[in-house]
Amino acid sequence: MAASIALKTFIGLRQSTPENNAIVLSNPTAVATSPRRRLRINASKSSPRVTGRNLRVAVVGGGPAGGCAAETLAKGGIETFLIERKMDNCKPCGGAIPLCMVGEFDLPLDIIDRRVTKMKMISPSNVAVDIGRTLKPHEYIGMVRREVLDAYLRERASTAGATVINGLFLKMDLPQSKNAPYVLHYSDYNTKTGAAGEKKTLEVDAIVGADGANSRVAKGIGAGDYEYAIAFQERIKISDDKMKYYEDLAEMYVGDDVSPDFYGWVFPKCDHVAVGTGTVTHKGDIKKFQTATRLRARDKIEGGKIIRVEAHPIPEHPRPRRVLDRVALVGDAAGYVTKCSGEGIYFAAKSGRMCAEAIVEGSENGKRMVDESDLRVYLQKWDKTYWPTYKVLDILQKVFYRSDPAREAFVEMCADEYVQRMTFDSYLYKRVVPGNPLEDLKLAVNTIGSLVRANALRKEMEKLSV
Ligand SMILES: Cc1cc2nc3c(=O)[nH]c(=O)nc-3n(C[C@H](O)[C@H](O)[C@H](O)COP(=O)(O)OP(=O)(O)OC[C@H]3O[C@@H](n4cnc5c(N)ncnc54)[C@H](O)[C@@H]3O)c2cc1C
Repeated sequence: MAASIALKTFIGLRQSTPENNAIVLSNPTAVATSPRRRLRINASKSSPRVTGRNLRVAVVGGGPAGGCAAETLAKGGIETFLIERKMDNCKPCGGAIPLCMVGEFDLPLDIIDRRVTKMKMISPSNVAVDIGRTLKPHEYIGMVRREVLDAYLRERASTAGATVINGLFLKMDLPQSKNAPYVLHYSDYNTKTGAAGEKKTLEVDAIVGADGANSRVAKGIGAGDYEYAIAFQERIKISDDKMKYYEDLAEMYVGDDVSPDFYGWVFPKCDHVAVGTGTVTHKGDIKKFQTATRLRARDKIEGGKIIRVEAHPIPEHPRPRRVLDRVALVGDAAGYVTKCSGEGIYFAAKSGRMCAEAIVEGSENGKRMVDESDLRVYLQKWDKTYWPTYKVLDILQKVFYRSDPAREAFVEMCADEYVQRMTFDSYLYKRVVPGNPLEDLKLAVNTIGSLVRANALRKEMEKLSV
């Protein structure tokens, strides 16, 4: 939000993790002349040819990350296995997706429940600002049900040639020598052996871990933990009359009551609304925040019936390790949800696709073995493209979600048309939008003004509460 100035300020910064700074020596005979210089030797061209078959890759997890990875791999000539534990999985999720995802991933319009063109941002004192005023007639935020989106993406992967296995991935045995296979252990639910499934193994050359926030693949490679938010959501069926209000409208509530570090939301679905909130810092109070979110929206959802209650962790930042040898993590398993907005569907789909493209390319369409350097091509591309976005949203969250006065200032800023245009363009199209210098200057002055007022207000409030 209000991203233009912040984006410009932080563009060019790059994440500095041990992964990125590593000197990658795929060729043991190569010598690094300086310890500070990054030496990348792409060994894929000299890596052995796979004979009698194509490269085999298992994608664990059939959410947006897994579905998109599997489709790209299968289309690229890889023998692909997609393992999903629950085919009708209804991932707890608000289901908001940016417009660019519809085009980039060629999503059919009938899987989009609602096209939101009005987004209300509601301050702690209930000042509501419609932040969708600058949208062009064809622009919208898509609202999907995850059970529909995920099933569609898996189906597409299957049509492209992936073998979809309904099974629970349990663990993997690491290769015993350089190009030896990984052995995956899983419970196969396709067979008629009761709820526990039949224990099976699968040999593959590489693994894409797309198994979400509690990723077992991540554990298998010692990827390390991340801080996470807990998000809680209720699906509420409201009357047709009340549903009319949410036809093309979504709401975001900010305030200490709904969350000390995130926001509460009401997102419209086909015939009900999803009401939810999240927090990193006060996980034990999540139900209290949910009650407050429901209270804030009470006039509009009154008489509604709760038809589903769901909760799930949301990663706060990438895991310390996202690639090891021939295993790569994507989506929530890697930790790709933005702060401030809590957005992860697009980034899951995109990282799945990007990782798969790197494997297809590195293996020359499944004809050669891949190694870690091939998978790292995905990491480098990912960090270069998206790290500034993550950093900016992280900073905005720290500045604007820290107190109620700061949130009031935030909502006040959102009334500015320029802010809305920049914000929506960045969100809808996932690109850094070039700003207008004069408008940027005005925005900077207004932002400082809002924050100064917020600070003054906070001090007054502190005096009152002493
Ligand atoms: C309450 C809530 C609201 C949210 N709202 C939004 C929103 O409005 N917009 C947005 O962009 N993002 C939102 N997010 C974030 C978004 O849901 C995630 O970022 C996104 O789902 C990540 O996709 P993924 O494919 O990486 O993982 P997931 O969607 O978690 O998919 C992982 C898949 O792996 C399967 N799986 C897991 N373990 C195994 C195993 N051992 N064996 C086999 N299969 C396994 C699961 O069944 C699941 O299908 C929200 C998150 C929460 C919790």
